Amino acid sequence: MQIADEMAVLIHYKVANTEGEVLDSSEGDEPLAYIQGQGNIVPGLEQALLGKSAGDKVQITVEPEDGYGVHEPEKVQTVPRNAFDTETKIEPGMQFQAEGEDGDVIVTVTEVTDEEVTVDANHPLAGQTLHFEVEVVSVRPCTEEELAHGHIHGEGGHHH
Ligand code: ZN
Repeated sequence: MQIADEMAVLIHYKVANTEGEVLDSSEGDEPLAYIQGQGNIVPGLEQALLGKSAGDKVQITVEPEDGYGVHEPEKVQTVPRNAFDTETKIEPGMQFQAEGEDGDVIVTVTEVTDEEVTVDANHPLAGQTLHFEVEVVSVRPCTEEELAHGHIHGEGGHHH
């Protein structure tokens, strides 16, 4: 069975940046379950998996435009240190939920001085070229219920 739109797909994956640093991996964990054609995974990877079958191995390089987007400088903001709760020690790498133009966004602290905190609302992987190694574990049609919910049930998916 080949991967096509509205198929439930299980994959094992490893993703590294251009320096070869592994950013994320399903190794030692359940495979990732997703629905093909619904934007559950980055567009470049979804495109590369189309037509593949269980057992297929795919190596693909995904440019930022087809990954988590380009890094947009206007999403980086500097805010006064006193805008934050003084009880909390603010450190680079911390993430907060903030209000954005299109609803809540996750911002990452990138720099802290005595006076100011720099936060970045880009996806942490924005601007990165990603190198994926993927093995297709299984492919089957989604159930009506899974399509209605927009996620996979069972292994690698939602249990409810
Ligand atoms: Zn569900």
